[in-house]
Amino acid sequence: TKFEALGLQKSLLDAITDMGFETPSEVQEKAIPILLESETDLVALAQTGTGKTAAFGFPLIQKIDSDSRTTQGLILSPTRELCLQITKEMQAYSKYERNINVVAIYGGASITEQARQIKRGAQIIVATPGRMKDMISRRLVDISKIDYCVLDEADEMLNMGFMEDIKDILSGTPNDKSTWLFSATMPREVATIAKKFMHSPQEITV
Ligand code: AMP
Repeated sequence: TKFEALGLQKSLLDAITDMGFETPSEVQEKAIPILLESETDLVALAQTGTGKTAAFGFPLIQKIDSDSRTTQGLILSPTRELCLQITKEMQAYSKYERNINVVAIYGGASITEQARQIKRGAQIIVATPGRMKDMISRRLVDISKIDYCVLDEADEMLNMGFMEDIKDILSGTPNDKSTWLFSATMPREVATIAKKFMHSPQEITV
């Protein structure tokens, strides 16, 4: 299939078949080979509804070491609804992977229950910035060893006033991780984050 040509592994191709995806969307076609083939930073200008969740989700799942329980990937997203939606999609994409746990962290729900899920081992965390920062400061999560950070709907997160939280969160992550930033627009605040936290990102626009 065209998904196979992008370099995706069998377990992901099987999940893609189950979901009924037949052809990669434009952002998937552009982002997936770049993210699979190199450890680069990426800035992707893409609106919602373009299939961007899979554009970062497939490569992230393929790159996770499922033999390790350590948190390796962090996806930051602006709202609880988006956070839950991304988590659900990531769980569907990873249905044929052995031992990949995707956990959602967001405000307005029990922090104890979320901490319990993290404790069981979450290789991928999908989080809203406020609750994430709270859980980091209470030492309920450890993102000091992540390899990948996705900033989804970066413009929305910054519009909602999450600049300081995002800076604090990113400051506690390894300097040599890869950062993949997805945004519908590129206002100054987004450029500031990219400049401060990313290293010569490749850029794609859809
Ligand atoms: P997103 O832009 O990531 O929110 O995705 C929008 C919707 O398109 C979601 O319901 C996805 O499950 C679906 N979708 C993503 N990629 C594809 C694809 N290649 N073919 C068909 N549907 C897709």
